[in-house]
Amino acid sequence: MVLDNLGSSLRGTLDQLQGKSRLDEEDVDAVVKEIQRSLIGADVDISLVQDLSDSIRQRALDEEPPAGTTARDHVLKIVYEEMVALVGDSTELPLESQTILLAGLQGSGKTTSAAKMAWWFSTKGLRPAVIQTDTFRPGAYEQSKQMCERAEVDFYGDPDEEDPVEIVRKGFEETQEADIRIVDTSGRSGLNEELIEELKEIEGFATPDRNLLVLDAAIGQGAKDQARAFGDAVGIDGVVITKLDGTAKGGGALAAVNETDSTIAFLGTGETVQDIERFEPNGFISRLLGMGDLKQLAERVERAMQGTGEDDDWDPEDMMQGNFTLHDMRKQMQAMNNMGPLEQVMDMIPGFGGGLMDQLPDDAMDVTKSRMLDFEVIMDSMTEEELENPRVVGAERTERIARGSGKSEERISELLEQHRMMERMIKQFQGMGDGDMQRMMKRMEQ
Ligand code: GDP
Repeated sequence: MVLDNLGSSLRGTLDQLQGKSRLDEEDVDAVVKEIQRSLIGADVDISLVQDLSDSIRQRALDEEPPAGTTARDHVLKIVYEEMVALVGDSTELPLESQTILLAGLQGSGKTTSAAKMAWWFSTKGLRPAVIQTDTFRPGAYEQSKQMCERAEVDFYGDPDEEDPVEIVRKGFEETQEADIRIVDTSGRSGLNEELIEELKEIEGFATPDRNLLVLDAAIGQGAKDQARAFGDAVGIDGVVITKLDGTAKGGGALAAVNETDSTIAFLGTGETVQDIERFEPNGFISRLLGMGDLKQLAERVERAMQGTGEDDDWDPEDMMQGNFTLHDMRKQMQAMNNMGPLEQVMDMIPGFGGGLMDQLPDDAMDVTKSRMLDFEVIMDSMTEEELENPRVVGAERTERIARGSGKSEERISELLEQHRMMERMIKQFQGMGDGDMQRMMKRMEQ
């Protein structure tokens, strides 16, 4: 994730301020230097870094810490506020009928983002449709269609039509029931006349309410030129930053936002249709600074829990206290499947970013979809006693369950092994007693 190290390096510097009630210039310089180092390392444009540094320095020295606030908390608050100002607001996207055009270079993540955004809008109760006009990149049609199927959203494309404008025309006709139309356009490997001309034509015909520029987080300094070219051609209202899961950078995109006088709309954090987040400056910066983003996490958990189907009286907190049964494991797998990779979830919990995950076995939570489906079938063939206490399952019972479920005995052993691993992990959390995990659970309930 972008600026991954900022939180920890900054905390180190801030910790040195512990016990101080006033800051001197040297203290402020140390904090500012740390921030500069992180931001420049993450490809944030140097002039943006300079502006931010000046504001932080000035405020930290001029403003009196409110009574009862330590110097450390005071400067952290200033850093937080200034960083929020640096990344800017989130692109306004009302939850109502609209057309959104996606532009960007080939490989930036447009096609993926179109399906992800459609999925996101569908979770808000709207009916989105993706119109695929990328006739340049072979495979774009098929990829887009498949992702839209996975996202369970409407899709229109025509692999035999070469004229993108014609596709938009037909696409509008075919998707009249949709509220949100997301028009995906083709990219080229570099900026060129042809690309820009085609984009202008599509934009002229589709008359979108929003033009979003899709940028790979690793773009670096090239962002400015790209943003200017796309901005001059069609005007850019917002930026989608993709592949934030794969880079420690991402700051280059801020230059694009600045250049086009726009804002950030969405963040892409993985390859599946659900790996998207609506950009939310406060939460984003809280996470960067290691304050965690409980709001996002709570939303994800809520969404995940809703998706676990007909709910009995399963309560995650019980799991944290008592025995970890196969019933719990099943719920846990379903919830996790809906929530996204555990590592991303952990990143959002204050104090959990990084560290803890490294201590867990890599495959502790590696439950792929097909394995999960098998596990579900197997569990259906188990007795209540076995689900409550999987340790009773020996060779004989395994044979019976294999016959009943039609799955191999190996698969059943895998299930039991997976359960044991997850149980160990839960025990680790339980070992935290009244610490972070329980506090987190409490806060999420509020
Ligand atoms: P397009 O040419 O702009 O339409 O780009 P694509 O949507 O085809 O994306 C290019 C590649 O980047 C594909 O392999 C995607 O799976 C991948 N990709 C897109 N967004 C993300 C993301 O947020 N995270 C990761 N890890 N990969 C992404």
